[in-house]
Amino acid sequence: MLTPLPIRTFDDVASIGYRIKAYSDVYKKTVPFDPAHACLKGKRFTHVRFACSTVRTLWTAHPPKPCTGIGNLSLEPPKDLEILPGEVGPRARLFCRNCWPYWAITQARRDVEPWKSMWNANGTGIACPRCGDGLKIEWSGFPGVPFSKGYEANNSPTL
Ligand SMILES: [Zn+2]
Repeated sequence: MLTPLPIRTFDDVASIGYRIKAYSDVYKKTVPFDPAHACLKGKRFTHVRFACSTVRTLWTAHPPKPCTGIGNLSLEPPKDLEILPGEVGPRARLFCRNCWPYWAITQARRDVEPWKSMWNANGTGIACPRCGDGLKIEWSGFPGVPFSKGYEANNSPTL
């Protein structure tokens, strides 16, 4: 049985202090926005579509027009909880392989709520809040685990 993700709405995202960025594949542009904005109140972050409004000119014969590329969402921890590359601190990157537009939680730490309770719940994985399928979970930051971002912190030669 899959464990539910503890956040579903933009309000949930704002309540844990996470930041959200939308990325357009078409125009290669990333835009941060406030998950607590009034127009997002009560809405699920997996159900709202963002379209890039950047005006672009492809060729001189065509008039400029908005990009309208669909935004992929990146949910990122607040700066004070963020674990930087090279630092030890078990955290997972979570994303759904099925849902479009793509969304991802860049860091769900092992030791911080609401993730801590989610990781400690019995289950075979974490359920996507949109499609219900199991999320892809990529762990990093464990000391001594090769290819983990935290590996170098405890295993670099001492001078
Ligand atoms: Zn999904």
